[in-house]
Amino acid sequence: MSDEVITRPPVIILLGPPGAGKGTQARMLEEAFGLVQLSTGDLLRAAVAAGTHAGLAAKAVMEAGGLVSDAIVLDILADRMAAEDVSAGVILDGFPRTAAQAEALDRLLAERGQKVDTAISLEVEDEAMVDRIAGRFTCAECGEGYHDTHKQPARAGACDKCGGTAFKRRADDKAETVRERLKAYHAQTAPLIAYYEGKGVQDRVDAMASIAEVRSALRTIVSRVSD
Ligand code: AMP
Repeated sequence: MSDEVITRPPVIILLGPPGAGKGTQARMLEEAFGLVQLSTGDLLRAAVAAGTHAGLAAKAVMEAGGLVSDAIVLDILADRMAAEDVSAGVILDGFPRTAAQAEALDRLLAERGQKVDTAISLEVEDEAMVDRIAGRFTCAECGEGYHDTHKQPARAGACDKCGGTAFKRRADDKAETVRERLKAYHAQTAPLIAYYEGKGVQDRVDAMASIAEVRSALRTIVSRVSD
C-alpha cells in the first residue's frame, strides 16, 4: 500500500438567493484559497454579450428574472469545467439552481474523480435582498462589487482593487426583476439545500451579518473541507 496522499481539488457550492453575497464572497475565497470562481450568471452574461446561440436563447429569460434552460446552462458549465485552470478546485456561484443541474453536476464530478465537498447556504431575509441588489454596481474592469450605501469605493469614482474608473449595473437588478428571481430561487433552487443535506455536505452561514463576518465563517468551512 502506498501512503501517498492524494489531494482532490475541492468543489465548493455557494447557495443562496440573489443578493445573498455569493459573488462577493466567491471572489474573496478565490483569492484566499487559490480556487477558481465559476459563475454561470457571468458565463451567461458573456454569452449574451458575445451574441452566441446560447446567449441569444438566454437573453430574454434572464431579463425576465427566470431560469435559463438546464441544457444551455449545463453546456456552458461543462465547457468551462474542461479548462485547465479549474484543476485547482472551484467555487460554484449560482450553480446548480435546479435538481437536474445538481444531479448532472454529480455525474460530471464523478467522471473526474471529484465530488461536492460542501454546499454552503447563505441564509438571508428576502425583504432585505431587493434593497441590497438595487444599490449594487461593479467595476467594469475587474468585476469588484460595490454598493451605493453598504460598500462605496474608498476613493470616489475609482475601483479599490484595480483603479478602474468605469462601473456598471446589471440589467436584471431592477426591483421587479429581483422579485421574479427570488421566486425562481424559492421554487427551484432552495430545495437543493435538502438534497445536499441528504448527502451530508450541507453547511449554513448567516449572510445577514457583515461582509467580513460572512467571509470569516466561510473561510472556516472552506479550510475544513480543503485540508
Ligand atoms: P446570477 O448572476 O447568478 O444572479 O444569474 C443571473 C441570471 O442568469 C439568473 O437570473 C438566470 O436567469 C441566469 N442563470 C444563472 N445561472 C443559472 C443557472 N445555474 N440555471 C439557470 N439560469 C441561470
